[in-house]
Parts: sequence; C-alpha cells; structure tokens
Amino acid sequence: MVGLLTDFRSIRDDFPILRSRKVIYFDSAATSLKPTQVIRAVRDYYELFTSNVHRGVHRLSMEASRLYEDAHEEVRKFINARYLDEVVFTSGTTQSLNLVAYMLGLSLNPTDNVVVSIMEHHSNLLPWVTLSKIRGFKLRVVGIKDDYKLDYDELSSLVDRNTKVISITHMSNVLGTLVDVKMVSKIAREVDAFLVVDGAQSVPHIPISVVDLGVDFMAFSGHKMLGPTGIGVLYVRKEVQDSLTPPFTGGGIVDSVKYEGGEFSIKFLNMPWRFEPGTPNIAGAVGLAEAVRYLRKLGMDNVEAYGKDLLSYALSKLSSDELIADKILIYGPRDLGCRGDIIAFNIVDSNPHVVASYLDSYDIAVRSGLHCAHPLHQRIKAESGTVRASLYIYNTKEEIDAMVNALREYVLRFT
Ligand code: PLP
Repeated sequence: MVGLLTDFRSIRDDFPILRSRKVIYFDSAATSLKPTQVIRAVRDYYELFTSNVHRGVHRLSMEASRLYEDAHEEVRKFINARYLDEVVFTSGTTQSLNLVAYMLGLSLNPTDNVVVSIMEHHSNLLPWVTLSKIRGFKLRVVGIKDDYKLDYDELSSLVDRNTKVISITHMSNVLGTLVDVKMVSKIAREVDAFLVVDGAQSVPHIPISVVDLGVDFMAFSGHKMLGPTGIGVLYVRKEVQDSLTPPFTGGGIVDSVKYEGGEFSIKFLNMPWRFEPGTPNIAGAVGLAEAVRYLRKLGMDNVEAYGKDLLSYALSKLSSDELIADKILIYGPRDLGCRGDIIAFNIVDSNPHVVASYLDSYDIAVRSGLHCAHPLHQRIKAESGTVRASLYIYNTKEEIDAMVNALREYVLRFT
C-alpha cells in the first residue's frame, strides 16, 4: 500500500488546477478534475483534426472518424463490453438514462411496472416518473435499511411477472452505498425484465465488467472520470439491441430514407451509430478516450484500493475526533466493503450550506444540499440536505486532516 500511495501522490502534478488554484477539491462526485493529458487531447482535436465524423471522404474527416471510433473502443475495453457496437456516446448519464427510459418506457402498459430505488439520482427517477404518467404503468420504489444498504428482501417482493424494467443506481451519489448489481441481475432475469444501471458514480471509482455484472444497459458520464463535460456513455447489451428503436432521430443515423406513395420508410444504420443522432461531441469523445487511458494506466484495482484507503482514513478521523465525534452525523454504510469514497454528513443544528461555506473559507471545496436526490434525503431525515465530501485519486490524507481541522474549528465556534 505504501508504494501505491507514493504513486498516487505524484499524479497530482498531472492536474494543472491543483497548481493554479489553492484548493482542496472534495467535489469529484459532482465533476472530477482533468489531467493535462485529457486537456491536451481535446486541444489537439481542435488544432489538428477539426472535422465532422462519418460525413466526408476527405482525409481530415477520415482521421476524425477514426479518433471517434477509437474512443468507442477505449471505452469498450474499460467496461469489458464484448462488442464496440454496444457502446453508445451521449452527452452524459442524464441523457443516457432518458434515452433508455424513452426507448423502453413508451411501449409499457398500465398493467406493467418499473422498479427503482429510493437512492436514485433524479436522472434515474424523473424520466421514469414522467413516462409512468404518460403510459400509466406503476413505478415501484425499493427502500433502504437503517444501515443505508438497499433492502434486497423488499426488492425481491416488489419484482413480479409484470416488472418490465429494474432501473437502479450502482453507487449512491449521497450515501456511497454500492448495490449488488449481480444479485439484482439474477432477480431481473427470473422475470425477464430489463436491467438498467446508473454507473455515474461507480464507473470512475471501481473496476467494471458489464459482462460480469449482467446488465442490459449502463449509463455513465465522462466528466466524473477525468474526462470533459458533455460526453457520456450508454452501454447497450448486444442481445437486447434488436428490440430497440431510436426514440431520438436526425442526421447521421440512417442508411436510407425513402419517400414513396406518400409514406416515409427509414433504414437505420447499425449500432451504435443509430443511437447517436446529429453531430456528436467529437472533442469530448477524444478527451474521454484519453481519460480512460489514464485510468487504465493507473489500474482500476489501484484506483479502488486508493479510494478505500482514503475513505477509511476519513471515516475513522471524523468519527473518532474528540471534538467532532459527538457533533457529526455521518450517513452511509459503516461497512467499507459495500460503499464508495463519498461521505455525506451533517454537523448537528447546522445548515449544510453554512458548513460548506465555512470549509470554503479554508479553500476546501465540498458540495452541500440535496444532491439531486430529494426523496433519499426525505428518507434519511435530512430534508435541509447534507454536506458531501467526495474523494478521488488526487486527494491525500493531509487534505483530509485539513478538513477535519476546519470542522473542529467550526464545532468549537458555532455549536
Ligand atoms: N446519476 C448519479 C448517481 C449522479 O451522481 C449523477 C450526477 O451527479 C447523475 C446521474 C447525472 O449525471 P450527469 O449530470 O453527468 O448527466
């Protein structure tokens, strides 16, 4: 572990913002910092390759198309998908999840149901709420237990023969809770339901194999895993592709459009292109590919181990400090094996925004509020929100010490 920590410390030099700004950045669950390699790849695309993709026979367009297709291949390897055509680029997790919801939800009927959990980010909740209102199907919501883990017994009891989709987070963006997706996959298979997984928080932090997990769809965002904003992914398992029609259409996704006898007939391109209408975010894709290369070079096992080490250090510091321990409420499972490196907390009788602003006065960036997960905050009885410190590869134990010291001061002065 000592060697591992030394390596991670040296990568801080790759993140220009850590040199140009005085900041302890604990807001990576909102968006991660970007290494020079990613920034350079995006700039190189604009300086050396600017051109549209799949639309020209000139060399620039061919080169840009190759870079764009290579980016799909990099992502395919990263999530251990079997085929390149299973990797669809979108603008981010939100668009990916809306795409799935509209693809699957528009054909559901009032006797059907879709199962989600109370931990969902609004991106994996509101599209289903909207569609359930349009189509009349039931939305069933699985709860969490008091230890902040998913209630798997309730999940089993809510899923039945009328369940057409289970759409669930892999890692809560508030509690850090990891969901046992393999187990959920078994439950989905028993009733022939589609399994959609929101991997926005898990994919950047732990090794992912979509094959091992047994998912049909998996959504995630480039910007939370060192990549640029405006680029994301929807993994679509090969076996489910034939049953799907693109809900959003336009240029660049058809083989042919014919108008005969007053009727239009459309022949779509093969996957994944038929799900990427319009000019895609080419620079974003190139940047995401570089981010993925960066993470693969570090090794996702190492990324996970480093995150766990930081998490364990932070949790033990916060819960054992003689000044803070009695004044802090930490949400999320105690068991490190089933959680990621996100720590949501409150200081008693303190508004989370006030605590976050205090930390900001020490150049410590955390997020405060409801984190686009309002029903979850209702469930954990934190209606005013929580403070969220989210860790990543460029953070250090010294930075955690600095946050603990600032919280000690806060507690001394204001509680
Ligand atoms: N799902 C989860 C669990 C998230 O944490 C987020 C963003 O914070 C999203 C979905 C939405 O991601 P994006 O804003 O990149 O579309």
